[in-house]
Amino acid sequence: KAKKHLGQHFLTDETIAKNIADALTENGYDNVLEIGPGMGVLTKYLLQKKPKITVMELDRESVAYLHETFPLEHLNLNTSKEKFEIIEGDFLKKEIQEIFNKEQVAIIGNFPYNISTQIVFKAIENREYVPEFAGMFQKEVAMRIAEKEGSKVYGILSVLTQAFFDVEYLFTVPPTVFDPPPKVDSGVIRFIRKKDYSLPVDEKLFFRVVKTAFNQRRKMLRSSLKSFNLSDSLKEEPIFAKRPEQLSVDDFIELTKKLVNNGI
Ligand code: SAM
Repeated sequence: KAKKHLGQHFLTDETIAKNIADALTENGYDNVLEIGPGMGVLTKYLLQKKPKITVMELDRESVAYLHETFPLEHLNLNTSKEKFEIIEGDFLKKEIQEIFNKEQVAIIGNFPYNISTQIVFKAIENREYVPEFAGMFQKEVAMRIAEKEGSKVYGILSVLTQAFFDVEYLFTVPPTVFDPPPKVDSGVIRFIRKKDYSLPVDEKLFFRVVKTAFNQRRKMLRSSLKSFNLSDSLKEEPIFAKRPEQLSVDDFIELTKKLVNNGI
């Protein structure tokens, strides 16, 4: 029986499961981490596709089910799998670099919706080790991550993700293919880490600027960023007459530079 507090909605459509697994590219890394495998509907397609699969599941019952369904001896005898590991635990509490010895790892999952944005922020924090990230979210969250400036749902999540990753919205999945069905549509997205994934400005300040600006998303920046003690001449610059949703990631970087030059 599905456990609500763990965000359990099990996918029942094999074609969609395969399409989600196929969202991972054939790029040259071997490790894949699946978050929240549940009963393994994605896992079996990942096993066909990549040589080193690790799955991490918080629900003890699902973990027991996975051990029965994917007996390790069987896998190792019958396939060329280099690795298949089932870890019981909470993804938000584990250190990615420790599990994978600082190797690169692609992250994938049909994520529990109650922690999906925390999963994204954790991937962003660990981007040094995460070249690729693909998964299913509530459609609305997927769009908030993937949309560009000018969109109504463009916001903190879009800017902070797109500063480091190229994001692509892949496809929409209806509630009817889950057991139990969620209330809303889901969306599958993929991020690929940019070649240069460090910022030319202080990261903490950049995050603070983005968050402060979007906290009052309908105001012009010269008003929403007041707490940064803008000088009079700075306030006159055209960018400060804009609202945050009009600024691209690069504009936010420029804006942060201006604040630094202004003596922040
Ligand atoms: N992948 C399965 C599928 O597509 O049918 C299950 C998806 S279900 C939406 C989310 C899964 O994440 C559940 O199996 C749940 O137990 C697991 N989960 C919830 N919180 C977790 C956490 N913090 N760390 C790891 N897994 C978690």
